[in-house]
Amino acid sequence: ADVKPERPAPAPMPREGVRITNRDRVIFPESGQTKGELADYYAAVAPLMLPFAAQRPVSLVRCPQGRAKKCFFQKHDSGAFGKAVHQVPIREKDGGAEDYIYVDDVEGLLACVQMGTIEFHGWGSRVAAVEKPDRMIFDLDPDEGMDFGRVKEAAQDIRARLSDLGLVSFAMLSGGKGVHVVVPLTPGHDWGAHKDFASRFAQALSTAEPDRFVATMSKAKRKDRIFIDWLRNQRGSTAVLPYSARARPGAPVAIPVDWDELEGIADAHPYAIGDATTLLDRAVSLKGWGFAAQTLPDL
Ligand code: ATP
Ligand code: MN
Ligand code: MN
Repeated sequence: ADVKPERPAPAPMPREGVRITNRDRVIFPESGQTKGELADYYAAVAPLMLPFAAQRPVSLVRCPQGRAKKCFFQKHDSGAFGKAVHQVPIREKDGGAEDYIYVDDVEGLLACVQMGTIEFHGWGSRVAAVEKPDRMIFDLDPDEGMDFGRVKEAAQDIRARLSDLGLVSFAMLSGGKGVHVVVPLTPGHDWGAHKDFASRFAQALSTAEPDRFVATMSKAKRKDRIFIDWLRNQRGSTAVLPYSARARPGAPVAIPVDWDELEGIADAHPYAIGDATTLLDRAVSLKGWGFAAQTLPDL
């Protein structure tokens, strides 16, 4: 009798209702994690991630064939993501408007993963008030090969300087090389004031400690220093979101940390997408991370 070729089993439909195809496709070739594992990671950490990721214009890093193949940033909707991924029109510099992507639930995150997304980066404002930033980020970018201890020290110093200005801040490990110091803000001021504050803060720091910090992007000037990247705070700029996976070897993730906990951490990528359970456990002690009702003082 004829033996019919076996049909592949249909991809399982996760509880969240987004079908993930090609679950076995290897996305992280160095460590072997698959698209299915990436989707499971996002489904698991969605409750931790969505308070930061939801209702915020996002840029996606998509790598449909895996992290080692062609990857691209996508900020505008192509209409191909399905109904779990939403659009918000945002005014462009030329006066026109473009539709930007946002999500507001686990289905939205998974619909992006289904389309090959590895990383989620967010604007510094929410869709309800895109012209009013709700967080400032100082992205510490160390020179190649710098000891992570110096990055941690720099983050603590920035925290102290912000505290002197009356601002509470939080630390996030980028999942790459650096630490992001995050300052939650009650929306009120506009992007001009936001960028101005961030720029002056970074300038003041590099002027006070020129051997440790630079406030310009120039790689040449970075020699053995940390670039305090304040440019994340311009209208339209993005930064990687808490709990986003990174398209880097080993599938590391960006994670919030306590200031005290930071002391004992050896690098900016201690956890990877296989660690969702651990991340859910440790989140209990991170309640309150990233939230503070405060506004920028005069500088
Ligand atoms: P690391 O700790 O390794 O520096 P990072 O996420 O801070 O990790 P950066 O290279 O400092 O990485 O980039 C900072 C941010 O700039 C990114 O998180 C991203 O949001 C944004 N960015 C970088 N490249 C692009 C790009 N091509 N298009 C849009 N945004 C980008
Ligand atoms: Mn960085
Ligand atoms: Mn940077």
